[in-house]
Amino acid sequence: MKKLLNYKLMLVLIGLTFFVSCQHETEEALEDAATNIERVDVKWLAPDDHPVVQLLYSRGYKKGTIYETEEYFLAPPDLFYSKDIKDYDLTDTGADPKQAYNTGALVSLDRMRINVFLDASIGTDLQTQSVNAMNELNGINNCALFFVRVFNANQAQITIRSDFGVEGTNVLGRAGFPSNGRPFNLVTLNVDRIDDFGADIRRNVIIHELGHCVGLRHTNWQANGESGAVNIPGTSAFDSGSIMWSTANGGTPFTNGDLTAFRALFPRALRRDVVNVIDEYDYSGEIYVVDEVFVDVFTDGSYTTSATLNRNVQVNYKKRVQEYNHTSGTYTYYRNRLLSAGSSRYYLDEEEEQCSPYQGETCTYEDVDITYAFSIL
Ligand SMILES: [Zn+2]
Repeated sequence: MKKLLNYKLMLVLIGLTFFVSCQHETEEALEDAATNIERVDVKWLAPDDHPVVQLLYSRGYKKGTIYETEEYFLAPPDLFYSKDIKDYDLTDTGADPKQAYNTGALVSLDRMRINVFLDASIGTDLQTQSVNAMNELNGINNCALFFVRVFNANQAQITIRSDFGVEGTNVLGRAGFPSNGRPFNLVTLNVDRIDDFGADIRRNVIIHELGHCVGLRHTNWQANGESGAVNIPGTSAFDSGSIMWSTANGGTPFTNGDLTAFRALFPRALRRDVVNVIDEYDYSGEIYVVDEVFVDVFTDGSYTTSATLNRNVQVNYKKRVQEYNHTSGTYTYYRNRLLSAGSSRYYLDEEEEQCSPYQGETCTYEDVDITYAFSIL
């Protein structure tokens, strides 16, 4: 998040009340955290000839603005990019749904449950604000995102940790965009600097960075000179109170435009269901198995409440066949289906397995994976 200059004075005063009351706790937390922080990180200017840096230049970033650490490239104002060119969809033609705040890469609708690990390096106050941030996002009705705090880093899709000294004073948090339908896996917080701001701003910075992790762009991307995105109907690039504005706001996190965007991009959670239909023919021992693949619709990533799909959704999936007998080999087919709004369960495909053990055959293995499911805007 870029420099925080445009928050409203009144909101800051409200924030200050929280700030003062949290001050003591924060100091204690930082003392505790200090015993855990053994790491100091550094950044340096990225080389022009790296393929990812070239790609970032082609997307509008200016030379001399991309930095790197051991693990990531850092681009203005608050973004991480993977150093692995394979994480980028170079065939992206811009046909994916995009909006004022999205980069075309979103978290797939079958991955709406997102586990978040809060590293000790951010201290207890920012852990509390992280939980508050997740609760705000989980509280958006008709939005399927469902963030869950986990206490084992190995179970996390996203880790929130200290920047370990990388950031200057004008960046409070940093995150990246999804790839392959999965959320970006890291949020860093400038723990030395963010402490200067009210509790609501600290929480809102974390919401903003989690927003990047699931695919939201800056609302004011165009004014910032960031690369292209397409507007979501009902949102505005001039919505300066937006949680995804590139400078932080205090107070209530979401504008009506934010709510419209979250609901449009993440309308429902999907889950694959496989129903086995098994037939065994007694006279020959021939085994014939059909697995029917369905997609079930839920209100959110807790997958507890069944719901009707409220927007059209495109599901891209991969059908993988392992054939052992007549034509031995592995075959992969890519398919897509449009799920029209209005049902809670959709037939997707059929997996078929057939073999004759009495003839010494090994059963064919088939599988269907959802690779990407996204809302049609
Ligand atoms: Zn940002």
